[in-house]
Amino acid sequence: MSTTPPTIGLVIPCYNEEEVLRETTSRLIVLLERMKSESLITPDSAVFYVDDGSRDKTWALIKELSAAHKEICGIKLSRNRGHQNALFCGLMTAPGDALISVDADLQDDLEVIPQMIRNFRNGDDIVYGVRKRRDTDTFFKRFTAEGYYKLMAAMKVDIVFNHADYRLMSRRALDSLSEYRESNLFLRGMVRLLGYANSVVEYDRAERFAGESKYPLKKMLSFAWQGVTSFSTYPLRLITSIGTLVSLAALGMTAWGLLLRLFTEEALPGWASTVIPMYFLGGVQLLSLGVIGEYVAKIYSETKDRPRFHVDVLEGEAFKKSRAQT
Ligand code: UDP
Ligand code: MG
Repeated sequence: MSTTPPTIGLVIPCYNEEEVLRETTSRLIVLLERMKSESLITPDSAVFYVDDGSRDKTWALIKELSAAHKEICGIKLSRNRGHQNALFCGLMTAPGDALISVDADLQDDLEVIPQMIRNFRNGDDIVYGVRKRRDTDTFFKRFTAEGYYKLMAAMKVDIVFNHADYRLMSRRALDSLSEYRESNLFLRGMVRLLGYANSVVEYDRAERFAGESKYPLKKMLSFAWQGVTSFSTYPLRLITSIGTLVSLAALGMTAWGLLLRLFTEEALPGWASTVIPMYFLGGVQLLSLGVIGEYVAKIYSETKDRPRFHVDVLEGEAFKKSRAQT
């Protein structure tokens, strides 16, 4: 283990989290104090809330908490950019030898953070928080999550099973992450591309202790699809396979029709054999166009190379210090 303790930053994206921030802050401060007293981290270690354009009093609350506690800092985005962009902004903006990403609702068990830091001090650049069980999830969530991980594995996309965005990253890993230019972020996939020494800590996930999920089903599905299209071209290949199959089926039908006509007194009955393949083909074609369209749309948004976030205000001791140094 390295002898000098590292400065750690906890990066927490927040969107309309006024109901949870006080409780979250008090729990985090207790944790930081404990780790400081054990000399696991330096006294400069801090919490960085990233306000993702909240519509409620989240930012006012972050400012208030930051004024009251020196270890609480805030980064205000110029508008809502979504969880992945807000998290990325925090990772690119907060100082520290290593940063740990956590959700504002503290569903992810904080008790594994000291272990993450110990692994980091023992030489790991990335430490993944992995859920031991999914029994706090609804049946639907468990079923879809499992299906999704299996699907990604089948498409040869490297992601860690049951790992969301609860992880530690070293400064070196963060610097490497900053070199990735894509504007459609799927961080749990991108981090796997970095390599470096890494390890896993297991934890249990609790229920959100207040407020509502900011990830309704629609956003969740769009994020899942984002992961597929950002990391795999398998859906495009699938279209080729479906096209091949349908063509083969059409050839078979043609042969059957010809045989009937040539060697029997019957002919293929008209309506069903015409209309069903027509609708079927129409469906397959539209679906294929849609999938291709998704990739074209991705090229469109990526070529614009737009910035992923704009920082509006920085608040807190850590930023005053880092500004004084530069
Ligand atoms: N979040 C964000 N921007 C958004 C949506 C969510 O910064 O547009 C944050 C949110 O405040 C929380 C984290 O992302 O800290 C995860 O969201 P949530 O806990 O609602 O998701 P769930 O745990 O239900 O999947
Ligand atoms: Mg949550």
